[in-house]
Amino acid sequence: MPSHIAIAGAGISGLTTAYALEQRGHRVTIFEANDHAGGPVRTIERDGYRLETGPHTLLVRHRLVAEFLDELGLEEDIREANDDASTRYVVRNGRPVPVPMSPPDLLTTDLLTPAARLRLLIEPLIPARDGDDAVDETLASFVQRRLGVEVLDYAVDPLVGGIFAGDPGRLSARHSFERLVEFEEDAGSIVLGAIRSKLNSIGSEDDSAPRRLLSFDGGMQTLVDRLVDRIDADIHFNSPVRKLRRDDDDWRVIYQRGNARRGDSFDAVVLTMPTHTLGTLEWENARPPAGAIDELTTLPYAPCCVVSLGFERRRVGHALDGFGVLVPKVENFHILGSLFVSSMFDATAPDDHVNLTVFVGGARQPELTERSDGDICELALHDVRRLLDIDGAPQFTHLTRWKRAIPQYEVGHQVFLDHIDDIERALPQIYFAGNFRDGIGLPNLMQQAPEHARRIDEALS
Ligand SMILES: Cc1cc2nc3c(=O)[nH]c(=O)nc-3n(C[C@H](O)[C@H](O)[C@H](O)COP(=O)(O)OP(=O)(O)OC[C@H]3O[C@@H](n4cnc5c(N)ncnc54)[C@H](O)[C@@H]3O)c2cc1C
Repeated sequence: MPSHIAIAGAGISGLTTAYALEQRGHRVTIFEANDHAGGPVRTIERDGYRLETGPHTLLVRHRLVAEFLDELGLEEDIREANDDASTRYVVRNGRPVPVPMSPPDLLTTDLLTPAARLRLLIEPLIPARDGDDAVDETLASFVQRRLGVEVLDYAVDPLVGGIFAGDPGRLSARHSFERLVEFEEDAGSIVLGAIRSKLNSIGSEDDSAPRRLLSFDGGMQTLVDRLVDRIDADIHFNSPVRKLRRDDDDWRVIYQRGNARRGDSFDAVVLTMPTHTLGTLEWENARPPAGAIDELTTLPYAPCCVVSLGFERRRVGHALDGFGVLVPKVENFHILGSLFVSSMFDATAPDDHVNLTVFVGGARQPELTERSDGDICELALHDVRRLLDIDGAPQFTHLTRWKRAIPQYEVGHQVFLDHIDDIERALPQIYFAGNFRDGIGLPNLMQQAPEHARRIDEALS
């Protein structure tokens, strides 16, 4: 029987879960605290430049994500990243060095010293860790143990800064790079595990899709707009959920609208709001297990500032022939890295101009995000000038601050996941979906949405 389901939060998790629930015949209403959908996914057009305030790309590798984009009719709107932007740079000795993209490149790369390359080659000979598989280890310790300290400093640290805005010294290897940990557990080595997994996949059906790094005509906003368009759900903007009250078999969702509080009744509620906001929810007639919500509100998020810069092409010495440049912590810059937006995607800058995005802060230097707008833009400018050989002033600067940009799956993350499971078990028809649980990338959230819809549907029927 169709049910009426409330979703708190109109980010990608809320929108995709709404879509998946509607596909199963349910009716959905979404309550969103903000005045727009998509959370950090937002595109701004300015002076002929196209800026992203959050995600710049969607990486498609899974069949479900490819099929989902197709179902939304987005195939026509897809803009794949230019092939000649496939090079990634990492800073070593103060200058951008291309990241080796194939095993032969690995033998000659300037990014690692000969000793580090040799250390990498003997990875299969390094004994696997003894003892309890369940022990949570930091990513830094795992990588240093298996691949050596230089690979940690010049490959994993900048990568993790770019993906999680995170610190490998605090992130859990198991929760942030599960596959690598499994390779060691299964084959005693990352390299052997990867080879074994590749061989096993030959001839067998799997869920992979051709790898595509993409955005859309109109930028990432197109994804949000299409989702909003394709779901029937009413979305109440500027309507934060304040209270959940159990009334017989229903949940009464009480939300704020201006100075007033209003309420509607639902068969189930899906919470996709960031965990730090859960402490603002009141509960009546049914309560989560003691301490679970308090603990969830402490799940760490890294802050990050996104600085968009536009320059005349002639002002930039670097060829910008790649995806972007990442900065290892040991190189002592202020920025986490920069994306060469106009090299990746056409029509994101006026002719003879370039569009760069610079990331500042993260778990590495959260204190920088507390500085004034002017200071943050100046830090970003200072570092890209140095790295990309830029002279002159930018044509424009645009800053977006994310106080809690990305949840950090640190050592001990399992405790948070257990609390979420406990709350779902204790409270009938209360569910959680979101980047604090499902993975931080947009594709993770899109993949999980049908699974959330399946279990909600099963419980309701
Ligand atoms: C700067 C940045 C760059 C990124 N780059 C990439 C990238 O290139 N590729 C990629 O795949 N991913 C990227 N990500 C990650 C990805 O964007 C996020 O993980 C994803 O958008 C999170 O979606 P969500 O729906 O889980 O959470 P959110 O988008 O945070 O949605 C939660 C929603 O809940 C709302 N809310 C809060 N409180 C309440 C309440 N009381 N009632 C109702 N609603 C409430 C919020 O306003 C918000 O809209 C990036 C993230 C950031 C910040």
